[in-house]
Amino acid sequence: MDTISHEPHPWDPKAGYPTIGARNITACVGNYHCICGNTNTFELARKIEPIIFPSHYHIKINISGCPNDCNKAHLCDFGIIGVARMTYHPERCIACGACVRVCQHGATRVLSANPAIGKAEKDPCCCVGCGECVRVCPTSAWTCQETKFYRVILGGRTGRQTPRTGKMFLNWATEDVILGVLKNWQKFSAWVMDNKPEYLHGGPLIDRAGYKKFKEIILDGVELNPECLVAEDMFWHETEYRSNFNVKPLSMHHTAGPKV
Ligand code: SF4
Ligand code: SF4
Ligand code: SF4
Repeated sequence: MDTISHEPHPWDPKAGYPTIGARNITACVGNYHCICGNTNTFELARKIEPIIFPSHYHIKINISGCPNDCNKAHLCDFGIIGVARMTYHPERCIACGACVRVCQHGATRVLSANPAIGKAEKDPCCCVGCGECVRVCPTSAWTCQETKFYRVILGGRTGRQTPRTGKMFLNWATEDVILGVLKNWQKFSAWVMDNKPEYLHGGPLIDRAGYKKFKEIILDGVELNPECLVAEDMFWHETEYRSNFNVKPLSMHHTAGPKV
């Protein structure tokens, strides 16, 4: 890209890192062990490792195998969640209603029974890809598509001063898209910091560049799969503990409405 003047500095292993660079990738057990897992989290972590190491630039990646997000993809720089896309086979459906009940009680209530035709129906708008309907169906009338899909949550972090919860950047992205995006992370970090690495979390890094610039660099050369949705904009809510901003009385704020 013509807006990027330099490549990231090469890494000299003897010199160590100038900042706290890429952290270990963490993953829940995923479908290797958990019945809720939509994806193999270990395999994905192993594919990501050689992309983000070595690096001067900070990134913390958490991978969860399903939208339960036990591994807190919402609280790291780059969170990845395995999501399931389903195919319905109406000829196998015996109208038992199990999928409708599980979606109503444990998910997003997008399934309903159509007694006129004796089949299940789905409002595809709001399915979160948890995969519960697939697991409870006794006749495999719902099956998961072979392709693995992921949601990417950006910019979350814990911390003593200003924690924030990440927001959805991509939904229904394939593994190739995830790996392609991560290949651009160092390039984006180097651009924002003008090749002078600092310890800075992903959210503030994107704040500095602006989300539009982030999107331009991070998606450079990445071919999105047809199902993939990309956030048009991104707004984080940060909690500010240091100043007690949220809990101090209005009278202590610099301005709190017009003077009376
Ligand atoms: S996030 Fe999902 S797959 Fe991972 S441990 Fe929790 S329930 Fe299981
Ligand atoms: S995958 Fe979608 S349709 Fe199935 S239970 Fe979850 S939210 Fe409901
Ligand atoms: S659980 Fe399976 S068989 Fe029962 S209503 Fe749903 S799709 Fe049909």
